Amino acid sequence: MNRHDVVVVGGGHNALVAAAYLARAGRSVLVVERLDRVGGAAVSASPFPGVRLSRYSYLVSLLPDRIVADLGLRLTLRSRSVSSYTPIVRDGVHTGLLVGDEAETTASFRALTGSDAEYARWREFYAGISRMAVALAPTLLEPLPTKESVRDLVVSAAGRTVWRQVFEQPLSETLTTTFTDDVVRGVVATDGLIGTHASLTDMRANRCFLYHVIGNGTGEWRVPVGGMGAVTAELTRAAREAGAHIVTGAEVVRVDVDGKTAQVIYRAGDEEVAVDAGYVLSGVAPAVLDRVRGRVGTPPVGAQLKVNVLLDRLPRLRSGISPEQAFAGTFHLDESYTELEEAYRLSAAGSLPERPPGEMYCHTLTDRSIVDSPTAHTLTLFGLHLPDTLFTDNDATRDELVRRYLAGLDRHLLDPIADCLATIDGRPCVEARTPRDLEAELAMPGGNIFHGDLAWPFGDGGWGVETDVPNLLVCGSGARRGGGVSGIAGHNAAMAVLARPV
Ligand SMILES: Cc1cc2nc3c(=O)[nH]c(=O)nc-3n(C[C@H](O)[C@H](O)[C@H](O)COP(=O)(O)OP(=O)(O)OC[C@H]3O[C@@H](n4cnc5c(N)ncnc54)[C@H](O)[C@@H]3O)c2cc1C
Repeated sequence: MNRHDVVVVGGGHNALVAAAYLARAGRSVLVVERLDRVGGAAVSASPFPGVRLSRYSYLVSLLPDRIVADLGLRLTLRSRSVSSYTPIVRDGVHTGLLVGDEAETTASFRALTGSDAEYARWREFYAGISRMAVALAPTLLEPLPTKESVRDLVVSAAGRTVWRQVFEQPLSETLTTTFTDDVVRGVVATDGLIGTHASLTDMRANRCFLYHVIGNGTGEWRVPVGGMGAVTAELTRAAREAGAHIVTGAEVVRVDVDGKTAQVIYRAGDEEVAVDAGYVLSGVAPAVLDRVRGRVGTPPVGAQLKVNVLLDRLPRLRSGISPEQAFAGTFHLDESYTELEEAYRLSAAGSLPERPPGEMYCHTLTDRSIVDSPTAHTLTLFGLHLPDTLFTDNDATRDELVRRYLAGLDRHLLDPIADCLATIDGRPCVEARTPRDLEAELAMPGGNIFHGDLAWPFGDGGWGVETDVPNLLVCGSGARRGGGVSGIAGHNAAMAVLARPV
């Protein structure tokens, strides 16, 4: 039978979530994925022997515990022992800001800023954010609330100041009026700039910030034990066990929908297959959906570099902090407020920042199951403010940026990073992905990791997954509230289908 109740275009993690919910509710579901594997950007890979790296996405915050419980996912998301470390050179002295346990953080703020005042402001700011997160997180799995109801919720849980700081005034104003230290401002700001090429004066940074601090009501970014491939493996199991059919190596080339019926055409090898459906769920980026519907869309801009590195050992730092502490959490490189804004200004004008800002973390300090050797470590770097337009010579720019990032890291190290890199046949174990690489490998237009700019978690009804046609819904990152590894878009699209008569 070449008819299914629902055909899901693309086999990313969100598509698998949608397929699992719908199949569990008794719908016949077909997932069609162009690559020879599912998971999209939520996968592990082994570019070097003895390691299974989270190749693209690497930390989980937005995946609601409710989805994990509903689908019976056997996942371990492990907390990191340190939240962040920011190495800096101040007055010629190598030092840094450590955000770890209460005593360490208090001491670190005091040493860096000269008093306890900045840390008091930090605690007050994040206490408000935390109250907002607890109130807002459950709404992400409900029909789209109105702006007024979100405002009432945030104001009653966290107060008017938090509403203004996050939803009304640019992050630049929030940060410069709340904090005095350039590094502290920068550490807070980075949550607004992940995968988002924007100045901190731009409200797009606020929206990115919001989603980075409300996941599961805590905003904590946890390590998926076994790597990101473990998340996709569990979702695949859940979808298959519920009865969903998944075809891989099958590129959707055409989607026709008229509101009542639908047809999806995919190409598998030399064969072209047509499938009829009641609903089509799009797990691909809106610009890809436009293309297969025969429409012209505007591709979004992606703006990051992802680097994965295998190390024989961790490097020691000039500031004297142990590498086990420095790299366990988010290691902020050249990410003070001023450096972030300068990197944005340069990159927007078409230049590569000399010291590109980025953040690193070491997966193996929290979970050693991804490496075979008892001494190997991984480092993951996510570089900011590197728009797709800078990569006209993709290979040369990728190599140059890797060089600049490693040089940026070296400024804080006693042991040059080159001495710590694992090698194969004399070649260092380093792999990097530019926005253009993501577009080529994952069909993410512009290399935008969220399929487009993030939108506020409110609107005018529905589930935030609707399109211009009633039986075509978005179940991927491009849905409202859909960015990141969350499954939220998949859940919400499934709920929108299940809310309608069969
Ligand atoms: C480098 C990088 C780092 C990131 N880091 C994090 C992180 O640490 N934490 C986090 O939460 N998020 C992170 N993200 C974002 C997150 O990974 C994505 O937002 C999320 O995985 C998107 O999931 P999705 O299922 O919506 O879509 P995708 O993962 O994009 O999946 C879409 C699928 O559709 C397929 N497809 C495309 N076109 C077609 C077609 N015509 N026919 C059939 N199939 C098609 C693609 O091959 C792909 O498998 C990162 C992303 C990247 C790229």
